[in-house]
Amino acid sequence: MQQANKLLKDVFGFDGFRMGQEEIVQSVANGENVLAIMPTGGGKSLCFQLPALLNDGVTLVISPLIALMRDQVAGLQQAGVEAGAITSANSEAENDAVVLALRERRLKLLYLAPERLSSFVTKSLLRDANVSLIAVDEAHCVSQWGHDFRPDYLRIGELRQFLNVPLAAFTATADEETRGEIVERLFDGRQPTTFLKGFDRPNIHLAFAAKNKPRQQITSFAAARRGQCGIVYCATRAKTEGLAKALRDEGHNARHYHGAMDPSERRDVERRFNVEDDLIVVATIAFGMGVDKPDIRWVAHADLPKSVEGYYQEIGRAGRDGARAEAYTLYGQEDIRLRRAQIDEGLAPADRQEADHARLNALLGLAEALGCRRKLLLGYFGETAEDCGNCDLCENPPETFDGTQDARKALSAVLRTEERFGAGHIADVLTGKLTDKVAQFGHDALPTFGVGREHTAPQWQMIIRQLMGHDFLRPDPSRHGALRITLKAHPLLKGEAPVMLRKDVLKPTSSGPKVRALVSDEDAPLFSALKAKRRYLADTASLPAYIVFNDKTLIEMAKRKPTSLDEMAMIGGVGAKKLEKYGREFLSVIIGDTPKQHPTRAKLAVSDAGALFDQLQDAQTDLNRGSDGTEKPLSCPTTMLAKLAKMKPQSLNDIERLIGTKRAERFGDAFLERIKQDR
Ligand code: ADP
Ligand code: ZN
Repeated sequence: MQQANKLLKDVFGFDGFRMGQEEIVQSVANGENVLAIMPTGGGKSLCFQLPALLNDGVTLVISPLIALMRDQVAGLQQAGVEAGAITSANSEAENDAVVLALRERRLKLLYLAPERLSSFVTKSLLRDANVSLIAVDEAHCVSQWGHDFRPDYLRIGELRQFLNVPLAAFTATADEETRGEIVERLFDGRQPTTFLKGFDRPNIHLAFAAKNKPRQQITSFAAARRGQCGIVYCATRAKTEGLAKALRDEGHNARHYHGAMDPSERRDVERRFNVEDDLIVVATIAFGMGVDKPDIRWVAHADLPKSVEGYYQEIGRAGRDGARAEAYTLYGQEDIRLRRAQIDEGLAPADRQEADHARLNALLGLAEALGCRRKLLLGYFGETAEDCGNCDLCENPPETFDGTQDARKALSAVLRTEERFGAGHIADVLTGKLTDKVAQFGHDALPTFGVGREHTAPQWQMIIRQLMGHDFLRPDPSRHGALRITLKAHPLLKGEAPVMLRKDVLKPTSSGPKVRALVSDEDAPLFSALKAKRRYLADTASLPAYIVFNDKTLIEMAKRKPTSLDEMAMIGGVGAKKLEKYGREFLSVIIGDTPKQHPTRAKLAVSDAGALFDQLQDAQTDLNRGSDGTEKPLSCPTTMLAKLAKMKPQSLNDIERLIGTKRAERFGDAFLERIKQDR
């Protein structure tokens, strides 16, 4: 694994593996069949990219998204790795160049769109290409029951047999059923070495808020995060357009996105989102699969998602680079109504509908949680966790009260009005408000009329929303969404079970979670300057900004303020190639002028040989005219010094072999002393 660690630093610029990566890399590099389930942003690409560099031959990567492939190929090329993609989006000439590189066995990674698998040409090309591994990204696409089914994925198993090489499959979808299908279809039913990595995304801050002027809640959330890239998810197409406009009116760079737009228009938004570092996309969930941008700083839900899985997947798009990110979700009674209706009115069989209600319940439980949201969320995925300290409820534990009495009042008002009305009317009955409707149905004569005067009507609405969140009440689709009491509420009605409710949501605030800057106030100007430099470099090269350096790398630069290329090389995300390409540019932002350095010396920075090189150079300057300063000037070429610094020969003989007898006579002892001191 020593070699792996070196490549990790030199090529990818990372200081260490993330949790779980190392074992996966090891298994894949050993040629085992591997199934790895890791959350989005967990760093799965590295788990096949690094083994690809460790092994002989080329690694074939199958990925469902062309845009994603293009970015990974660009990223690898920037890092100095020979990679290419064959897709329908390439020109003929581009594809030809890739094929040539493959024939000449230069490629380390070949990305292939799944629809290419069926072509005969592809097969014969691959047979002669010395393929050492097939890596399958988004492996759940083989599942016919999933949302992302890709028929072409069914051909992968066949290809594996044909090439007779190991296969590594990656996915973020963990459920048992899908896993089984992957094993069946990709591995012929033989269980591969399986890794199930934790689902926690600790860098994403979680927050929910009850809707209260929701448009304003979203615009002020965005305003407090100006210049950051984010996604706002909405339940309807019309809303995406309205909200995007509202954001633009407030000076944000915002666009809408939904499934009814022209494909070309959609592609334009996708492209812009990918390359711009401050765009807000207001979208339906149609905006998702293709989003592979690591520096999305926040995801907001203007409407409640449809299930806890959906929520997890959508917020998971934020902060894939590991830097701080935020999820902010609004929810209200009408969301619960809408989502329940969508399930009830859908065409799924009854047991499926019940399962969908349960997934929605899990999300509502999260929305109405009384304690750490992450603990609850991870619990849903079968993981145990401590209070996280990075969610709104950990920061401000909610005040709760024994809501049993209130709940029973509300439920009995629902019963007495024959389960035929919505929350508004129930609240009127409870607060004793004589509306036309109350009079028309004679509800002022009910014993529950006016028994809830201690709360206002809006407060009752919020209690009712919490009861809906606990699944004590459900809107009945066959009665225009009138509230019906569920079986789950019976013990409560009979006084056999208590319920705790949240007090704070009775007095909603519209401020949203407080902003925590990515860098301290002090470092903020430098951070902006670094971002501006990044944008300039990215624009000039027509690359997405994060391909130059991602946010996490810039944040670390702004904090640690490297003053030399050596120090720059210590920043996470700065590998050898990027140091060479961009190091000086960013250094000049930090320290003004960059020191002049011989390019050979500059390259040593990442290999930790830089300091020794400087020592050797000093020693040689001292001895330029011999130890008494009277001899003929003599020196070693820079490349020779660099070689010494890298190889660290441990004897005079070894030094002589590298620099020749004459130089060894003059410098040998001094060099050896420095080399021995260098630890
Ligand atoms: P996913 O698992 O969603 O495919 P990626 O492979 O795209 O995730 O990785 C997400 C982000 O994490 C990328 O920006 C990548 O550069 C970064 N990353 C991956 N591995 C490491 C590591 N060991 N150290 C630091 N950053 C890493
Ligand atoms: Zn928490």
